[in-house]
Amino acid sequence: MRLNSGLLSLEEAYVFAEVRQRTQRFSAGRPEVKLISLGIGDVPGPLCPAVTRAMRRAVKEQGRQKSFHGYGPEQGYPFLRQQIAASLTATGAPVQPREVFINDGAKTDLGGLLDLLEPGSRVLLCDPTYPAVWDDCLIRGLEPVRLPADEGNDFLPMPPPGKPDLDAVYLCSPANPTGAVYNRAQLSAWVEYARANELLILFDAAYAPFISDPALPRSIYEIPGAHRCAIEIGSFSKLAGFTGTRCGYAILPCELIVRGYPLQTLWARRQSARTNGVSYVVQCGAAAVYSPAGRRQTAKSIARISENAALLAETLKAAGLSYWGGRHSPYLWVKCPRGLSSWAFFDFLLEYGGVVGTPGVGFGAAGEGYFRFSAFGDPAQLQIGCNRLLRAMDYLR
Ligand code: PLP
Repeated sequence: MRLNSGLLSLEEAYVFAEVRQRTQRFSAGRPEVKLISLGIGDVPGPLCPAVTRAMRRAVKEQGRQKSFHGYGPEQGYPFLRQQIAASLTATGAPVQPREVFINDGAKTDLGGLLDLLEPGSRVLLCDPTYPAVWDDCLIRGLEPVRLPADEGNDFLPMPPPGKPDLDAVYLCSPANPTGAVYNRAQLSAWVEYARANELLILFDAAYAPFISDPALPRSIYEIPGAHRCAIEIGSFSKLAGFTGTRCGYAILPCELIVRGYPLQTLWARRQSARTNGVSYVVQCGAAAVYSPAGRRQTAKSIARISENAALLAETLKAAGLSYWGGRHSPYLWVKCPRGLSSWAFFDFLLEYGGVVGTPGVGFGAAGEGYFRFSAFGDPAQLQIGCNRLLRAMDYLR
């Protein structure tokens, strides 16, 4: 048996394992310190009542012969596809239900969609970035190409000059880990670049629900021409606390045709080979997010996380730290003070604040010297964490 060399080439998920190890080592030595995490990438939960009610109803249906659902459509149930399409269309991103493909979370399809590319294809990725896509390129025999996201471009890199030797580009806005958000003009420039050079854009909108300014695009389909060059991936994880329930979607517009092949048809064919779809119960829960109660309740949770982000931003400012993000995003990207490395700042905050964050170097080599804070915590805990952070920073003055 020959093993997949791309899989063998993956680096250890070193940073996250190391965060756990250092945290455990610290707690073993100083059990009296109750650590507070300002680095959580998971939502605090729970699911909102509109969602749990719909899921309970669906479970009951599954327990009765006359309402039982067996295998569903691979692309997802029409009732959910319609809701997603209608919601995007209502906010200025016209999408048809048949263009929506339901999945069990964005991560699955961010990797899966790379199956549309021939092995050896070159994919442009920001550095730092959400690391799963980088790994997935390697697993599938694609070549990831780094695009520096740095202070010089406000962590919002624009298309590189010249004729690109590329097949696709992965963009994430609002971005993990930097919290940077592309504006309409910037996203339009990417769409123009993709169309002029026949590239595919994979647009990750997992954090779009945090955008509260209507002037900022929540979907790439708000940009003219995007239907001809972009696939968008959305998720219920951060929108409605589905990180453990699992549901998301990919949008493949009818106009997205490459070398005469409609990608929507190719993707539908690929899905019929690879999946039997997402659980009926979960899809009923996801559809309830679009009910009036679901919208109200999810908006409340998003607002709470956004308030956390604002508190973190104030704290960082008061601490005299340079940071990006935190508006229209749950993430804040901090420059480590005094030229400290990501790990040195991690150790410092642990030791002097009892606070855990995420070293920026975990998101790519260009993340060295930066640090990610996240607003997904319990507000009371976050407040304590912020106070500790401020006090800890006094030791550096
Ligand atoms: N995309 C980005 C940028 C993320 O940060 C995450 C998760 O943290 C995902 C996608 C995955 O989302 P899901 O839970 O829908 O798989």
